[in-house]
Amino acid sequence: MTKRIVIVGGGTGGTVTANLLARNLYRQLIDGKVVINMITDKPDHVYQPGFLYIAFDKIRPDEIVRKQRELLDPHINLFVDPAVRIDRDNNVVITKSGKEHHYDYLVIATGSKVVPEEIPGFREGAHHFYEMEAAKKLRDALRKFEGGRIVVTVGVPHKCPVAPLEFTFMLHDYLKERDILDKTEIYYTYPINRLHALEPVANWAVPRFEQKGIKYETLFNMEEIDARNKVVRTMEGTELSYDLLVAIPPHKGAPVIQESGMGSDGWVTTDRKLLRNAGYDNVYVVGDTTDLPISKAGSTAHFQSDVVAERLTSEILEGESSSEYDGKVVCFVETGFDEATYVWFNYKTPPKPTPPSRMLHWMKLGYNRLYWLSAKGVL
Ligand SMILES: Cc1cc2nc3c(=O)[nH]c(=O)nc-3n(C[C@H](O)[C@H](O)[C@H](O)COP(=O)(O)OP(=O)(O)OC[C@H]3O[C@@H](n4cnc5c(N)ncnc54)[C@H](O)[C@@H]3O)c2cc1C
Repeated sequence: MTKRIVIVGGGTGGTVTANLLARNLYRQLIDGKVVINMITDKPDHVYQPGFLYIAFDKIRPDEIVRKQRELLDPHINLFVDPAVRIDRDNNVVITKSGKEHHYDYLVIATGSKVVPEEIPGFREGAHHFYEMEAAKKLRDALRKFEGGRIVVTVGVPHKCPVAPLEFTFMLHDYLKERDILDKTEIYYTYPINRLHALEPVANWAVPRFEQKGIKYETLFNMEEIDARNKVVRTMEGTELSYDLLVAIPPHKGAPVIQESGMGSDGWVTTDRKLLRNAGYDNVYVVGDTTDLPISKAGSTAHFQSDVVAERLTSEILEGESSSEYDGKVVCFVETGFDEATYVWFNYKTPPKPTPPSRMLHWMKLGYNRLYWLSAKGVL
């Protein structure tokens, strides 16, 4: 009997999983014993970490976009047709066009999306770099900026937890390069009582902020943005004025998750080691859409994809699998325009940022170029 694998979501997690499965199950695909169908909602694949560099005019938008079809093994069937309902009791995914995709195994990789509309005044008053158009608008606003106060504030939850820090460090070097640093105050704020969710990263960042003259305030939860008066107000009852506001919007999972009754706010209940959806042994979850309390990052999605592809391969070929996810996350963190640090951690080991170096910066830039090989499952 043919085993049907359906993967919903053609971003980092879905693409890596699909390509690894196609490689592991090559013979079965050729013989028609396995079918892999990917359902996604856009024909293009965007390398999202590139948005950070677009905001600072370091790369062109077209450098971070590829056709999804070109990234997939030719034996994978691609449907650009958004999933509108996932029915786990009947093993079927229904798409916008009305097509029913029946499966034996399902992989959910629908990621996360920004919801700036949750903050009154956000659209009118704030810039961000978490989507392509927003990153381009921020680039244009920065080009015109001639001095004043730039506030960086962070909504939660959000993907790539280190990106606000990276943005702030790069902003410092951008202003320096444009010779307007002495006319600008950089003001970073964070919702909890330290600079970052991961305590070692927060402790590491403090002296670097102080050395660069970056001001900061913690326990700052943006509640409302008053675009006319250029003020951001907080749940704590404080307010801060700005000339340019860069605010990380809060995120939710994909609407199809909530609408299919699979998890509040679009986060799917996921077993932390097996990466199965609770109660459904044939449903796996990778990437941002899991409800796991770990960083929502491309590296997380990639490491989880390794495990899910290995588990599915063994289940199909041998009837069982022992592969487990250990919580591994790896991030290169830009600390300016020419240096970066590096953190890795898992469920047991906390992160320990290394001293910033030029080599780590070049490694991050190198990975930005090699991402496409990583998505193809080659790296
Ligand atoms: C500015 C920025 C900087 C970042 N920097 C880093 C970094 O340095 N390192 C790092 O590791 N990570 C970084 N990330 C995070 C990383 O990009 C994400 O965590 C990663 O893409 C998550 O992979 P995913 O597969 O879960 O989701 P995604 O890659 O977002 O893919 C989800 C896919 O599902 C599709 N989809 C959604 N709904 C449906 C539906 N109903 N039907 C069909 N398809 C659907 C979407 O269109 C999308 O293609 C950064 C992100 C941003 C925005």
